[in-house]
Amino acid sequence: MSTLRIAWFTADTRCLGPGKRFALWVQGCGRKCEGCIAPSLQDTAGGKVSDTAEILREIAESGAEGLTISGGEPFLQAEPLGELVKAARRLLPGLNVIVYTGFTYEELRENPSAAGLLAETDLLIDGEYVRELDDGLPMRGSSNQRLIFLTNRLDPGDMPDSRTNKIIFTEKGFRMVGIPSKGAKELLGIMQEG
Ligand code: SF4
Repeated sequence: MSTLRIAWFTADTRCLGPGKRFALWVQGCGRKCEGCIAPSLQDTAGGKVSDTAEILREIAESGAEGLTISGGEPFLQAEPLGELVKAARRLLPGLNVIVYTGFTYEELRENPSAAGLLAETDLLIDGEYVRELDDGLPMRGSSNQRLIFLTNRLDPGDMPDSRTNKIIFTEKGFRMVGIPSKGAKELLGIMQEG
């Protein structure tokens, strides 16, 4: 089976969409948006290479209602991610899928290599992060980013009405899950300096 370069995942979060979710952060993004909250995920040679079969097993065992894919830039690895989501849906038929991307929907529609993952995406949150437009809207980092519902598995009424995030402590330090509010970003900055 194929491989994916990933940063990490968590099998149980409620911070990045409705219900219990499996959240996967892929590694690698070429944008360098000013104020990016995940600069360590930009390096395309960073993170680790994982078998998609192994990630699929983790998703299946999680029993999640939804899968959120973020990064990094998911569409740099669109083909293996599309295969992964397709296989995950066979194991968890009700699974809904949210994908974050720095590309716009229009750009992705013109890119044949994006088609497989786009076809498996229920909600696309598109566009790069613009710090000046980071005004606290839920589910997105800045207000230029759009919530584009591509299927009827999810709809705007399912979405949280405020930003939620959580810090998870790991052996190597900590990770933040979710879109940080202004206060959470300040806290994150203090923790990163410490
Ligand atoms: S698109 Fe996302 S991961 Fe990439 S640099 Fe911008 S904020 Fe960071």
